[in-house]
Amino acid sequence: MMPKRHRHWFSDRFVHTSRIHELSTAQNFFLSQKRRAAVGSVGFGMVSSDDSGNSVTSEDNGGSVTSGGGGGGVMSGGASNFLLQAAAAGPALSVPDPSMRRTDLMALHPVFRDAVNQLLEAFQKEGLPFRLFEAFRSPVRQAWLYSQGRPGGGSGPIVTHAEAWQSYHQYGLAADFVLWINGQWSWSTLGVNAGRWERLHKLGAKFGLETLNFETPHLQLAGLKIAGLQEGTFPSDSDTSWRDNLEGAIISWNGEPAAPQMVSVRPLLPEPTK
Ligand SMILES: [Zn+2]
Repeated sequence: MMPKRHRHWFSDRFVHTSRIHELSTAQNFFLSQKRRAAVGSVGFGMVSSDDSGNSVTSEDNGGSVTSGGGGGGVMSGGASNFLLQAAAAGPALSVPDPSMRRTDLMALHPVFRDAVNQLLEAFQKEGLPFRLFEAFRSPVRQAWLYSQGRPGGGSGPIVTHAEAWQSYHQYGLAADFVLWINGQWSWSTLGVNAGRWERLHKLGAKFGLETLNFETPHLQLAGLKIAGLQEGTFPSDSDTSWRDNLEGAIISWNGEPAAPQMVSVRPLLPEPTK
């Protein structure tokens, strides 16, 4: 029961093979930026990535980032403040390390954030050793993950089928939960763990989330379509922290595939009255 959109992603990629080259060029840029950038916390719940080491079937290896810096253009609200602060702080903060994961909940859409909080509560109540492994994932990091195992990217296995803006993580609408056992991450499905992953998925469904059949730790808000998100149609009941973060990611992205439209993210300002 492979969801339709994933078949679409695959066929789309075969049609637009030149995109791979374009993307790897962009990634080379990001990677060279990464080398220049010092690794440091910007206070966004970033986690170091030395705890990866996962299977081919997961897009969950490694870590995540604040939305990438750089990018000019018109800015507004908190996103511009963030980018201005990042620019003022120097290049070390303006280009976050794409291997860093983000686990802060404020970058999540509030509807999804509520579901995540309910899940985390349920883990506690039921003694399930799951922890939030990754929440919001910037398009820069998604592109970096996509490059892994592909020409121009890192060696090792392919870790994701999704390019930038093709994963719910870029919209704050997905999160990955991984077992934390004896002080380390575990993707084990052996013994008692098999039932734990099943329970994770059951609980997810209970709180309005859906799974991806090729990515066990992943849960995303059910009832949406990735095509809609890419067109800038988002769930209602959003809030400023989600909007500002997404806006920052959109503004700072100039790679392929294109970022969604920003119009739906933030309502237009009212006309000034004279
Ligand atoms: Zn995921």
